[in-house]
This record gives sequence, C-alpha cells and structure tokens, in this order.
Amino acid sequence: MSKIHVMENALANMIAAGEVVERPSSVIKELVENSIDAQSRQIGVFIYDAGRTKIVVEDDGTGMDREDAVEAFKRHATSKILTTFDLFRIKTLGFRGEALPSIASVSKMTLVTCDGSGAGTSVVSEDDELSVHDASMRQGTVVTVEELFYNTPARLKYLKSDFTENANSIEIMCRLALAHPEIAMTLYVDDRKNFSTSGRGNLLETIKDIYGLEVAQKMIPFHYANNDFSVDGFLGKPEMAKANRYFIITLLNGRNVYMPKVQSTIVDSYHDFIPPTRFPFVVLEMTIDPALVDVNVHPSKREVRFSKEGDLRLALLEKIPEALRGKNLVPDVVSAPKPQVMVKEEQLALEFDTYSPKPIMPEVESNPVPQVAVFKEPEAVYRESVHAETQIRSLKALCQLHLTYIVAEDDQGGFYLIDQHAANERINYEKLQRLMNATLTVSEPLIPIVVHLNPSEMVLLNSEKMALLESVGLKLEMFGINAYQVRQIPSWAKEYDEQAYVDEILHEALHGDKIDIPKLRTHVIATMSCKRSVKAHDRLSLSEMQYLLDTLLLCDNPHSCPHGRPTIVHFTQYEIEKMFKRTGV
Ligand code: ADP
Ligand code: MG
Repeated sequence: MSKIHVMENALANMIAAGEVVERPSSVIKELVENSIDAQSRQIGVFIYDAGRTKIVVEDDGTGMDREDAVEAFKRHATSKILTTFDLFRIKTLGFRGEALPSIASVSKMTLVTCDGSGAGTSVVSEDDELSVHDASMRQGTVVTVEELFYNTPARLKYLKSDFTENANSIEIMCRLALAHPEIAMTLYVDDRKNFSTSGRGNLLETIKDIYGLEVAQKMIPFHYANNDFSVDGFLGKPEMAKANRYFIITLLNGRNVYMPKVQSTIVDSYHDFIPPTRFPFVVLEMTIDPALVDVNVHPSKREVRFSKEGDLRLALLEKIPEALRGKNLVPDVVSAPKPQVMVKEEQLALEFDTYSPKPIMPEVESNPVPQVAVFKEPEAVYRESVHAETQIRSLKALCQLHLTYIVAEDDQGGFYLIDQHAANERINYEKLQRLMNATLTVSEPLIPIVVHLNPSEMVLLNSEKMALLESVGLKLEMFGINAYQVRQIPSWAKEYDEQAYVDEILHEALHGDKIDIPKLRTHVIATMSCKRSVKAHDRLSLSEMQYLLDTLLLCDNPHSCPHGRPTIVHFTQYEIEKMFKRTGV
C-alpha cells in the first residue's frame, strides 16, 4: 500500500505559516510589504490587543480585480515573478506567493480590494473556505486579520506579553517606514496613534517623524558609491550610542535586512568613537543591483546574501570613521548641562533642504581648535580615598604620543605610557561609584529635562519600569506626545551631569535585559564614566596631562579601566638599559 500522498492545501499552508507567520509583527511585515509592492502612497496599520484580536492594513495601491483577489489566496500565487529569470532579479519585496494563504490559514482574513475599474471585491477566508462578495471600495486594498492563531494553540501560547508583541510590531513598522520615506505610513495601536511619516521621500524627515527632532538633529549624512553598490543614510553621533544593536538599521533595496557581518563591521567602524559596550545608531540604505543579491535565503526574507559583501564591509570600515572624524562629536566634558532649548521644527527643515545624497568632500579641518577636555579641581571624594600604599607614588607627564597616550616618568628612572581615555574612565568610574553608593537623596533637576522616547520605547516604559526608575531616584511625568518630564533626580547628579544620568538610566532600563537595581547602577556608572572621559585623539596640554595622572594615582585601582583594559604600561630602568645593551646582559 502506498504511504506517500501530497498534502492537502490547508495543511501545506499551515506548515508554510509556521515559517512566515511567527507572531503579529510578521503579519504586519508581510501585509505592509504587499502594500509597498502595490505602489501605495499611503499605508495605515491598526493593531488591536497586540495583534491577537485584530490587525488591519489598508493602502491606496493598485488593488486587485476579482479574479486576482481570489487567486491571491492560493499558495504560490504571485504577480511578482513569472520565471526563474525573474527570481534572480527581484525588485519587489514579495515573490514567494506565500504570505496571504499562510496568514489566512491561521486566522480569519478579510480582503477588500478594488483596482479602480468597476466595483470592489470582498473575499472572506475562514476555516479554509472562501466567500466572495461585491464591496464598495475606492482604489486600494484593506486586509483585516482577526483571531490570529485561533487554530494553532501552540503558537498562540508562545506569544509574549502585549508590551513585547506591540514593541516588536512597532519596530517592524519603524523599519518599513525608514526603508520607504516616499510612502506616508501611519501606525495606530489600540486606536492611539503611535507614529506617522510624511511620505515626502526624505529619510532624515522620516527619522524625525519616528524618533523625534532631537535624534534627527544628531545624525550625520553618509554617502558612498562604487560600481557595484551605493550606501546612503545617516550615522548617529557617538553621543547617541545605544546599549544594544537594535538601532543599527540596515536596509537593502528597500528591504529591512539582517546582515550580521555588515552590522558587526558598522560597530567596528565606530571603534574609536564609542566604548566597546555600546552600539551606534545608524540608518543605512544599500542600493545594489538585484542580480548580485540573493533574497531567497529564508521564507521571511530577512536574511540576504550579497556577493560583494566583503567589499561593502571594507568600504564601511574606512568611510564611516572618515565621515565621523572632523565633526564636532565630543560632548562638553565639564560644562554644566546645557539648558534644554526647544528647537523649532523649521530649523530642522532647513537641514533637510541642505541635505542631498552626494559624496561628502574631504573636510578641510572643520574645527581647528582641538576639543580639549578641561579637568575640574580634584574633588573631596578623591582626597578621602588616598591610598596609603599606592605602588606608583608620583608621575611626571612629559608629552602626548599619537594624541592618545601620555608619556610620563617617575623618580626611579622608569618611564610609563598611560592610555588617556582608559585612565580618565577609571577616574570617573570610581568617582561615580562613590556618588551613587551614597545615600539617595532626590531633588528637582536644576534645569527642566524633557526626554523624548521613540514609539516602541513608549510601550516599554510600563509601571514596573517606572517603579524601578523611581527606586534609583528618577521620577518621570507624562509631558505631551512621546515625551516625559523629569520630576526628580538623585541630588548628586547635579554636580555631575543630570542629562547624561537621565539618558543612561532610562536607556538601560528600557533596553537592557533582565534589569535589577545593582546591574542598572553598574552599567550606568560604566557608560557615564566612559562618556565623560577624554578620548583617543583629544589633544591635552601638559597641565591637563599632569592633572589626569595625579588624579589617577588617587584611585583605588589605577591600573585598569572599568572594562579591565590596562591604563598604565611601565618600562623599568633595567628594561630600558637592557634594550640598549647597557646592562651587560
Ligand atoms: P507575494 O507577495 O510573495 O507575491 P502574497 O501571498 O503576499 O505573495 O500575495 C499574493 C499576491 O496578491 C501578490 O503577488 C499581489 O499580486 C497580490 N496582493 C497582495 N496584497 C496586495 C495589495 N495590498 N495590493 C495589491 N495586490 C496585492
Ligand atoms: Mg507578499
């Protein structure tokens, strides 16, 4: 008896759904990609109960006639490719003809569509049955997905909290919107508007629409092109560095893609600008001849292969630091926190006008006065901690090497190289540790602080996170759309940098995984100390170098930075003499 038979359609669709439809955000991705492929100018997405009860995606695209609207529910039915020739030259986001039947097989789906000629069509799919009716409809398509995973209980159980599912969906929408600044996208979550983009085709404006004006103002334009590919977009200034890789957004031919090696290269290219525990904020769109790209790696199409990936990575590694260098990147080291000036939107509009994706000319040293970190008077916290037995008693600064190391000598005939950044980090780390471990007293910030969150962060800031923040002295109050005003802050932060404290603690609480108070503190101390430290390539005066060394020697552990790298390398007189064969060894 034969045991092998071809699967029933419904079963095959459900199996395909296992790969394509993982969670509500994947439904949104597939439906919005269809709307993009249908040349829509406007796309609206509505999520209810984190996508469990209802997801609606509506567009003003080409729409479908009745025949196509029914055909679209069939597996492997697509209007996007016809032959294998097409498969190697894919210009659309979809091509597998799988999304609609897969989603329909695990939900109750209604598709209402009209191609502009004649009346519209409504197709309702429920329990593998289609019913087709007339529907009055303008040109475009509305897809409604209800009761997602109602017939796959395991999938339903596997969904995470509403917060997490919403955050995932919002994130996917942000990326789709960034990949298509020419389409006006709007997202509503439980009838509340989350974000909307203008659709005017300007990436920086889209970044502003999604992440806010402050973020958009801290982006540096980037452009690179050769014969095989071009890369356009924006590099976040180092001060915007994030605690995770979430904000390294790589887009390829209008598609949000996962290219782990390219993302690592982007992180590496920021090596000189941000500490090793941090990740840059980057939105880069790569435009590559579709013939060189294989998007058919995984059913979700998130992974792609690109034959010139090595060249792309080399180019990024060289050109990103070039674009960052010469810009005024170093946040003031000692100046008091700047008053929060509300910048008018027009100011950004001006920047939009001046931005065009053209090669950045090599800059003539835009900033002839080097950014120098000025150190404050030694503070009481250090004096208290003077170690009775510090191994190195005193160091005399001699000069700066490669604008990165301080050359110093002691009175024993040896010489030292000190990594200026690592040393400064150690100093700040110990100072902050003392400040944070002291009894917590809170007060209002000196200067009003308003924090702007991006749409997915807004949903992450739940009452549990608010309570956590309050226990480390940060009290927030709603302040308009996507913003909070800081009501209370630890009193010590006044002497340090209130804004930096707020930014760091908030970022870590929202994006760090499994947060507890000690972890939160340690992380914030490490990043704040790094941020406030002089960097490699900062020019220091002799007295600044001397001050840095004096303060370093007052530390509990002057020998390594908070990340464990050495701060000081020592060459003894004996070693020097040995090198010159003066010792007879
Ligand atoms: P694919 O996108 O891979 O072709 P789908 O199952 O997602 O497969 O969609 C099947 C077909 O239905 C598409 O090729 C397209 O012709 C049509 N379609 C789906 N959504 C839309 C839409 N929003 N507007 C117009 N046509 C659509
Ligand atoms: Mg599709």
